[in-house]
Amino acid sequence: MGNTAVVVGGGIGGLAAAIGLRRIGWEVTVVERASMLEDAGAGISLAANGLRALDELGVGDAVRDASRGQYNGGTRTPQGGWLTRMDGSALEKAVGTPIMGIRRSTLHRLLRDSLPAEALLIGSEADSVEQPGPGTVRVGCGETVLDADLVVAADGIGSKVRSHLFPAHPGPVYSGSTVLRAITEQAVDLRTDFELTWGHGAEFGHIAFHDGRAEWHAVLDLPAGTRFADPLDELRRRFHTWHDPIPALLDATRPAAVLHHDVNELRTPLPSYTVGRTALLGDAAHAMPPNLGQGACQALEDAVTLAAALATEPTVKAALARYDAERRPRSQAVARAARQAGRMGQQLSHPLAVALRNTAMRLTPSRAATHMILRHHAWVPPQLS
Ligand SMILES: Cc1cc2nc3c(=O)[nH]c(=O)nc-3n(C[C@H](O)[C@H](O)[C@H](O)COP(=O)(O)OP(=O)(O)OC[C@H]3O[C@@H](n4cnc5c(N)ncnc54)[C@H](O)[C@@H]3O)c2cc1C
Repeated sequence: MGNTAVVVGGGIGGLAAAIGLRRIGWEVTVVERASMLEDAGAGISLAANGLRALDELGVGDAVRDASRGQYNGGTRTPQGGWLTRMDGSALEKAVGTPIMGIRRSTLHRLLRDSLPAEALLIGSEADSVEQPGPGTVRVGCGETVLDADLVVAADGIGSKVRSHLFPAHPGPVYSGSTVLRAITEQAVDLRTDFELTWGHGAEFGHIAFHDGRAEWHAVLDLPAGTRFADPLDELRRRFHTWHDPIPALLDATRPAAVLHHDVNELRTPLPSYTVGRTALLGDAAHAMPPNLGQGACQALEDAVTLAAALATEPTVKAALARYDAERRPRSQAVARAARQAGRMGQQLSHPLAVALRNTAMRLTPSRAATHMILRHHAWVPPQLS
């Protein structure tokens, strides 16, 4: 089989795919429409499955060095009572690592640094993907035409490649929640590495970084497209009665640092992650709500699985069939679980339902909570070496 690939999209998924393909000896070009390759967003948590995928890609140690282990934290009520405590050491014992918190820009830079500059075509938008012959797939980017043996569509939740390949698919829909988030300007005195606090139809959470600064996020159930004239002021108004350190996190933030996005998801599952010589990967294939912190981890799993299949199967066709068979059931199950976690978590707003959920959570032993998390984290990557 040939060994050239074009990856459309230079987000976490696309860069990881490119690294995986290069590790198995393929020539790769990443086409990214943004003129600067910097993943927007604040922070991200990486669970054992994502970290193991990064290990296979050769960047696991560098990512761990730049991250903070999320050992101590859990879920709380707005008054500060604990619903569950999460023990990162128990996760570490079970799967070798606690969840790690890292700035998105740092993760993105570490992935980018693993690729040669000439592999990145920055500021180029892919506008077509066609298969001119049985052994070739062609990506058009304005005047530039790139022919390859494989195209990896990692162009995110709004994937144009996906809508071209699956014109009847309804595409992404609004999850019902909008999220505001930022990284604090300075270090904050935090007693925990991470927390999630659930009110009625609202959530506030933080992830601490290794330099003492933190990412916070506020999720609100509001109509799609809702925007505030002064987002930080609006959050202070909504969250000023919530427990410490929530007001302190907002106070440690510059207004201009606040990002605001509606959370969309691919609620209708795709019938396949491959068409001809094109593989869909990451959010392009299975964008999910962020409630389990698994979207990027699943994209990293995709990247390693795709490279391993191409390294071992005799043809691109056989490799893509294996990629689809291994990735679709797993990632779609995680997406379903993430949606369910949102419904039972921050999206729950009826007072009786919230009270019942909170009681059930308080009664759940932390060992059982850890066991539930492990279902998604205990993934073993195929070896690329
Ligand atoms: C609020 C929030 C919190 C989250 N927290 C976590 C977390 O803690 N842990 C976790 O694992 N996941 C988390 N996620 C999910 C995670 O962010 C995504 O799953 C992940 O970033 C998807 O990566 P991707 O590379 O598939 O897509 P993207 O990051 O969207 O990248 C797609 C790239 O393709 C480019 N592109 C698009 N179209 C074209 C084109 N036509 N030509 C060229 N380039 C193009 C875009 O510019 C972009 O750079 C969170 C998501 C949200 C919304």
